[in-house]
Amino acid sequence: MEQPLPTAKGSKCLNHPDEEAVTRCKSCRKPLCVQCSLRKPDGTYCSEACWNKVKQHQARWAQDKAKAAEFEKNEAAARWRARLVWFVIFLALVGGAAYYLHTHPAALEKLTQALAPLLKKIGLQR
Ligand SMILES: [Zn+2]
Ligand SMILES: [Zn+2]
Repeated sequence: MEQPLPTAKGSKCLNHPDEEAVTRCKSCRKPLCVQCSLRKPDGTYCSEACWNKVKQHQARWAQDKAKAAEFEKNEAAARWRARLVWFVIFLALVGGAAYYLHTHPAALEKLTQALAPLLKKIGLQR
């Protein structure tokens, strides 16, 4: 005699009250005897309808997961684009400032004078 699964132990088949249940439907949890259990690649079911319900559910779940992954990918790409934009702006500002000071020695001189007390304070210039 086949050993009943722990989940169906002590239960009787819902369709055959005299038969010991050996398993439960993976979808509706109905106790099932050997005759009534419908074996599918991913488990045992009471009917095609129950199996289809689970299959549909799994398909939707996979779809949702794919959608979530796609969303996350787009989010990450957007974050990187934003970082790149800020980096370009930063480079343009630094480059522009350097170019300005390079082409305007008087401004560089003024800036150095303005910064001198500060540099002295932090000990970079004596
Ligand atoms: Zn079922
Ligand atoms: Zn049965």
